[in-house]
Amino acid sequence: MKTAIPFICNPHYPFVADWIDALQQAMPDEKIVPLHALDAQAKAVCTVAIVANPLPEDLRQLPQLKWVHSVWAGVERLVTDLADTDLKIVRLVDPQLADTMAEAVLAWTLYLHRDMPAYAAQQANRQWLAQDYTRPEDKTVGLLGLGALGEASARRLVDAGFKVRGWSRTRRGVSNVECFAGDAELPAMLAKTDILVCLLPLTAHTKGLLNATMLGHLPGHASLINFARGPIVCDDALRAALESRRIKHAVLDVFSVEPLPPDSWQWGNPHVTVLPHISAPTDRRTASAIVARNIRNYHESGAIPESVDRARGY
Ligand code: NAP
Repeated sequence: MKTAIPFICNPHYPFVADWIDALQQAMPDEKIVPLHALDAQAKAVCTVAIVANPLPEDLRQLPQLKWVHSVWAGVERLVTDLADTDLKIVRLVDPQLADTMAEAVLAWTLYLHRDMPAYAAQQANRQWLAQDYTRPEDKTVGLLGLGALGEASARRLVDAGFKVRGWSRTRRGVSNVECFAGDAELPAMLAKTDILVCLLPLTAHTKGLLNATMLGHLPGHASLINFARGPIVCDDALRAALESRRIKHAVLDVFSVEPLPPDSWQWGNPHVTVLPHISAPTDRRTASAIVARNIRNYHESGAIPESVDRARGY
């Protein structure tokens, strides 16, 4: 008989029942349960768990655990929490998620491109004033990260007529995208970027990457969209760049502390648009189908899907 598969998450996570329901529907031959529903015998033989920001001590209750399948795409907290184990971490790679992120990238790029922050400020002052119009083909959007989400976003931006450049660790080839790779090429990539979109994973290497020096490589009128993780951007450097108007506007969906505390400077800054980490929510139905396929394959063949490279950090 098959062992039940636990869904393990942070104790305050509100959507446990919805996830268990979606996962159960996607894999009717398995039994998906919360961790507390596994008895000692089942815990002793469990080799795979489905996770959403679990507490590491909960995972330690499963001595035979070989791998965890996250229902999130970003797994930096798991990578840190499980640094002293050899557990394999499989993250969510879902074309639906990439599509949702690409939509968000296009939406907020257009928001900046069509000067919506300026028109909102003008309306508040009852000011009738046309800003200069630039066509998308005369504007360059730079993507940091050309992975599952970055590549889908790059394609969407190309389709919308923007000039697009992208940066990754290893060199990528995406049609109609000018591709840059590695630290040495980042300043050149930034130098001609009008709207910079961050879609990097948070790793030891990317933490604090967008510091005063890197932001200083952007042209004076550039704007920033951060849809990746808060700590990739140095808050103080960004604040100074916005206040000196070196950077025109920042759309921030992610922050070093979430929810963003009420006394944070970003809330009241006229040059910042604050979003509550909504750029690409996981779709429970498509994510569950992907998790189900991976677990079915594991049960049939013993193969664990491609997992996070611990040395690289993503
Ligand atoms: P991915 O497929 O792993 O792609 C990561 C990209 O970043 C790759 O192109 C990679 O380069 C590049 N990269 C990593 N480290 C780098 C470095 N040191 N220098 C240059 N490039 C580097 O990840 P993804 O699925 O696209 O997701 C990206 C991030 O989005 C996630 O980690 C998560 O934090 C965030 N996210 C946010 C939301 C939200 O709602 N705000 C939702 C989902 C995900 P290579 O191509 O050479 O490997």
